[in-house]
Amino acid sequence: MPTAALTHDALRLTELKLEQALSLLQQAGYPLPSLAEAPATIALQAIIDGLCDLSLRDALTGLANRRHFRAVLEREIDRVARTGESALLLVVDIDHFKHVNDTHGHAAGDVVIQAVGQRLSECVRPMDTVARFGGEEFAMVLPNCHPVYGEAVAERIRRTIEGRAIRLPSGQDVHVTVSIGGAFAPQWVRSSAALWTERADLQLYCAKTEGRNRVCLEQSVVSSVSSEEKSLLFGVTAWDDSLE
Ligand code: GH3
Ligand code: MG
Ligand code: MG
Repeated sequence: MPTAALTHDALRLTELKLEQALSLLQQAGYPLPSLAEAPATIALQAIIDGLCDLSLRDALTGLANRRHFRAVLEREIDRVARTGESALLLVVDIDHFKHVNDTHGHAAGDVVIQAVGQRLSECVRPMDTVARFGGEEFAMVLPNCHPVYGEAVAERIRRTIEGRAIRLPSGQDVHVTVSIGGAFAPQWVRSSAALWTERADLQLYCAKTEGRNRVCLEQSVVSSVSSEEKSLLFGVTAWDDSLE
């Protein structure tokens, strides 16, 4: 591109109020486009892409945030219905996390949350999505996960967290455990992100009340789905009681 056109382009870009966007991207460690050199449309597109990516991530861990995860769940529900492959939703909560904060301080607690998030990501396939749901709670969606393998996958995740100490900035090592609740989205049920999450949350509650550091997966999907989900069945207007 001729230098004159470039200069003109760059000038147009500087008329926009981009300081805040650039500063947000810089704080989050994104590479910044050079406003003086890059053609305006390319620089602007890089800023937009960066902001879009940032809006999908949790600030502390860099994992998917709750909003993004909800969209992933909705997409997964559609995919399950289309392909007939069941998917597993896991909700993961650090046990007695308040004790970590109380003993080591909030900043150390943040390090523990980051480390757990990182290890959860390392436990799963690239096609799986790991999100921080808030506080010390995470959620993971595992597409194309047959119910036969669900327990083994969740148990592997639980053991990974249990088995490795987390090094704090102070040099101290802490051990944490997690409780995991899980629910499947079978292809013959039309669920919603909220209802699917509710079922997984119920299992997390079971894992907590049964003593923590354990996995509870929904066993019989047919008897666990809510009447609301049953009423969303594809092509079926009334729930067939013979399925129960
Ligand atoms: P349980 O085994 O029942 O899950 O007990 P818990 O102590 O993990 O659960 P509780 O919900 O009582 O405490 C969670 C704590 O997590 C309370 C809150 O202060 C802390 N917390 C929430 N968000 C953050 C965060 O971003 N950073 C840190 N360091 N702590 C957080
Ligand atoms: Mg907890
Ligand atoms: Mg919690």
